[in-house]
Amino acid sequence: MTTSPPDWSFSGDTGPDAWATIRPEYARCASGRLQSPVDLGDAVEGGRGDLSLSYHLNRLTFVDLHWTLQVLADPGGHMSYGGRLHEFAEMHFHAPAEHSIGGIAADLEAHFVHQADGGDLAVVAVLFDVAPGTHDIDDLVAGVPAEPGGKEQVAASRDIQRLIPLRSRRYRYMGSRTTPPCSENVSWIVMEDRGTVGADALAAFTRRYEPNARPTQPLNGRTITLG
Ligand SMILES: [Zn+2]
Repeated sequence: MTTSPPDWSFSGDTGPDAWATIRPEYARCASGRLQSPVDLGDAVEGGRGDLSLSYHLNRLTFVDLHWTLQVLADPGGHMSYGGRLHEFAEMHFHAPAEHSIGGIAADLEAHFVHQADGGDLAVVAVLFDVAPGTHDIDDLVAGVPAEPGGKEQVAASRDIQRLIPLRSRRYRYMGSRTTPPCSENVSWIVMEDRGTVGADALAAFTRRYEPNARPTQPLNGRTITLG
């Protein structure tokens, strides 16, 4: 079983500026007022929001979605955030990073996607900069299945939870999925503390995927807090 390429992309006729025209279901990508990603440079001091993780991500599957590498887990795990329980759904990567700070983007952004009953999402984002040496995230971000659209199960367990710097301050705001259909039901939590990624691992990712960061979107009066 392989995955099919989506009908949208990150460049040309099917790039971000055209998403809303590709299908009616994607209209929100242009008409929405709570779109993501955003620049985080204007954040104001705010609360942390109570967040705790309980991941049990033992059996991982790497899936080539054609636009990114997705990591699935069975069993998954959960996150408690704002008093609601969210199930871990999947993680995936964007290079360069999507959320910028003062217009500057990190080299890589990992999205840990969680879903609450009813479908609302809470996404934890962690930014990574290229640095020498070895890094916890390297074998994940370089785990691109050999076959385009392919899936590969990973035998060894990996501690994904340690990739999230839980003691860090957090940027928080309400936004959307950053890919079609751009649904506006996402609580974003972007960690201020960053991780590091190896240049070779990042190159293994970018060899397969075109730059897959949606441009930053207008805040439209939204407040971003940092605390
Ligand atoms: Zn994403």
